[in-house]
Amino acid sequence: GTLKDKVAIVTGAASGIGRAVAQAYAREGAKVVVSDISVGGGEETVKMIKDAGGEAFFIAADTSKAEDNEQLVELTVEQYGGLHIACNNAGIGGPSAPTGEYTIEGWDKVIAINLSGVFYGCRYQIPALLQAGGGVIVNMASILGQVGFANSAAYVAAKHGVVGLTKNIALEYAGGGIRANAVGPAFINTLLLKDMDSDTIDWLVAKHPIGRLGEASEVAELVLWLSSEKASFVNGAYYAVDGGYLAQ
Ligand code: NAD
Repeated sequence: GTLKDKVAIVTGAASGIGRAVAQAYAREGAKVVVSDISVGGGEETVKMIKDAGGEAFFIAADTSKAEDNEQLVELTVEQYGGLHIACNNAGIGGPSAPTGEYTIEGWDKVIAINLSGVFYGCRYQIPALLQAGGGVIVNMASILGQVGFANSAAYVAAKHGVVGLTKNIALEYAGGGIRANAVGPAFINTLLLKDMDSDTIDWLVAKHPIGRLGEASEVAELVLWLSSEKASFVNGAYYAVDGGYLAQ
């Protein structure tokens, strides 16, 4: 496998894209720390990986808490002896409202998880990656890290922030052997879309030139490539996986 003997953390790995990334990493030979606030889903991901012959371990962490991120890295190094790859993927959708009516609590929660959570993750992963002689960070942004989407101010602002944060890390740590890139999926069939009715889904599908939503596994393939040595010259970039959404 392309990730043989690598140790990887995936946050938000109890479901959706994070689960698919964890599975792809394990399939390529990595030892995967599956992390999430959801214990049941996280342990299910570990079981799926082990049933497929891979290696994984669950560590509960709320990415919006700095200390949880610190502990996650500590426990990872304790469990597997180091850290080489981190996919900061945990995220929520948040409330839907125009900016002038957006709840303060909703804003604070989305920023805490989708932006501060990614910063906290990188903040504690970077020293461990340097310790290992270098490594890879893949941060989960969105098409909404490049363009706006009405009624989603907090999500759009957080995802744009993730893209900027990722560029900074790339500049600061290229010399230390760390590559950092951001991935931007369009709308993907996961639990994140669970509250949408079928009319809304049809309306979303129509925004994708390819004529359908994406699958978590299609995002995972891009994350996997960016995390591997095959992407050795790719740094500080934003990669869309969006069925043509941003091409319009
Ligand atoms: P999902 O809801 O299936 O999975 C998200 C996971 O994150 C869940 O397991 C959840 O428990 C976990 N999580 C939420 N808050 C957390 C916290 N504070 N700490 C730790 N874990 C937490 O959704 P998904 O679609 O797989 O989303 C994964 C990422 O992909 C998110 O960052 C999301 O913004 C991004 N994304 C999703 C889409 C989409 O259409 N589904 C599109 C673009 C980007």
